[in-house]
Amino acid sequence: MPQLSDLPSTSPGDPSWWFSDAMRAEGNEPASPALNGQITVDVAIVGGGFTGLWTALALRERAPQLSVALIEASLCGCGASGKNGGKVHGYWASLAGMAANIGADGALAVARAGTRAQDAIRAFATAPGRDVWWREAGNVRVAAAPAQDAKIKLYADTAKRLGVPDSAQPLTPEQVADYCRSPVFRGGIYLPEGANVHPARLARALRKAAIDAGVSIYENTPMSSVVAGSPNRISTPRGEIIAREVVLATNIELAKRPEIRAHVSVFSSYALMTEPAPDKLAAMGWNRDEGIADLRMFVHYFRKTADGRVLMGSGSGPISFGGNTQDPSLTTDRASAARAEKGLRRLLPALADVGIAKIWGGGIDVSSDRLPFFRTVPGTRIHYGCGYSGHGVNPTYMGGQCLASLVLGVKDEWSSLPLCTRDLPALPPEPFRAVGGRLVRWGIIGCEEAEEKSESAGFAMRAAAAIPKLFGLRIGTR
Ligand SMILES: Cc1cc2nc3c(=O)[nH]c(=O)nc-3n(C[C@H](O)[C@H](O)[C@H](O)COP(=O)(O)OP(=O)(O)OC[C@H]3O[C@@H](n4cnc5c(N)ncnc54)[C@H](O)[C@@H]3O)c2cc1C
Repeated sequence: MPQLSDLPSTSPGDPSWWFSDAMRAEGNEPASPALNGQITVDVAIVGGGFTGLWTALALRERAPQLSVALIEASLCGCGASGKNGGKVHGYWASLAGMAANIGADGALAVARAGTRAQDAIRAFATAPGRDVWWREAGNVRVAAAPAQDAKIKLYADTAKRLGVPDSAQPLTPEQVADYCRSPVFRGGIYLPEGANVHPARLARALRKAAIDAGVSIYENTPMSSVVAGSPNRISTPRGEIIAREVVLATNIELAKRPEIRAHVSVFSSYALMTEPAPDKLAAMGWNRDEGIADLRMFVHYFRKTADGRVLMGSGSGPISFGGNTQDPSLTTDRASAARAEKGLRRLLPALADVGIAKIWGGGIDVSSDRLPFFRTVPGTRIHYGCGYSGHGVNPTYMGGQCLASLVLGVKDEWSSLPLCTRDLPALPPEPFRAVGGRLVRWGIIGCEEAEEKSESAGFAMRAAAAIPKLFGLRIGTR
């Protein structure tokens, strides 16, 4: 195996390849006007990513009599929704962790709700006139080191124990090679629910659909403050919104709020897009559209694009202190960018010399049990949703439905989910959270990299990696 560089081919930075492509495909349409002056609406939504846009659409569909305005600090889709891997699946791959945290019934209820979300996203993405590169073929997790083999059994055993054996089907190395050949792939698991999408085009299509459905969208309009009351008041640099109901859909920015701080940490994930290489993909037998990921905790996730590129991501980016979303290491960390690139070259060596078109990073809102949560601030009509933990393309649809149900005050199939009702564990306070989190991250990255070389990490790394389990935390465990 050739020595892989610790430096990425190109420096990471915004915008993502996806977002540039989506804006180009739209003909760089002008932004929606910024809010100028005072408006009064029934519902004000803050944040123009998937969560805010799905919420707006759900409200217009379920309660067309309500007026809805959405403000976005920059352009809709410029946040995580326009920078992710575009891998769309619900929670069948998370059954083991969910069953341990919220019980078997809760885990199955969330996984089934994820399938309802998948159906709805498919219906939206494939509607006539939409070109969001929807490709549906399932989701494959592969062991790419002997230490990852045990996860295959865990997935399959959990699915059997919960009575849904078909949701996670073990694959032999030969069967894995039918999906994609690589000298480092071992056995794996096939999860039938899974699709790939162009995430920024999806976000921009949602924006257009929301405008067409009568939502008033104001871009380049950051919320400066929200004051709870009857009605609530949202201030922006040149305006004010008076609204009976408010939905905060600002993703990592929510980690600063007092009622959320104890439950959400801001980590980061890095992704790269290669230049097109369709012949090389065909030569490795990667002919279908399954999304693939290895079985590390700091996962490598990868998928093809409609134009023959590969997106490779590494969920191993730095952790910010105190939920500081302006920390440059969330978007410009060269070591994390290099880990994504090393993942590409190691996992898919047939792409050893393919060019890298772009690398970017983004903050992810990791909740204390790795599931999102949707709530109303007690005593107010301000609702919020976050905690997607790096897995939000499908779950943000669920978020939109849950938040719409909270706004409408209805107890239904969405607001009864554990996503809206469970108790959340608390994370350690700062400075222990960031300092401890960085130590654990260093230990786990060291252990997982050593395992890929069939070596054992040093004692200090193994001890650091064991801290979360020792303290009974539900994140940072392998
Ligand atoms: C690199 C990367 C790869 C990922 N890969 C995957 C994947 O393959 N599959 C998957 O399921 N998930 C993935 N995720 C996670 C997924 O992208 C997110 O969970 C999801 O997009 C969250 O959507 P959102 O609408 O809540 O947040 P966002 O898309 O971040 O939207 C929040 C919006 O709020 C705006 N905002 C913030 N503050 C204010 C304010 N004060 N006023 C007004 N607007 C404001 C922001 O500008 C932003 O547009 C990935 C994330 C990253 C970063």
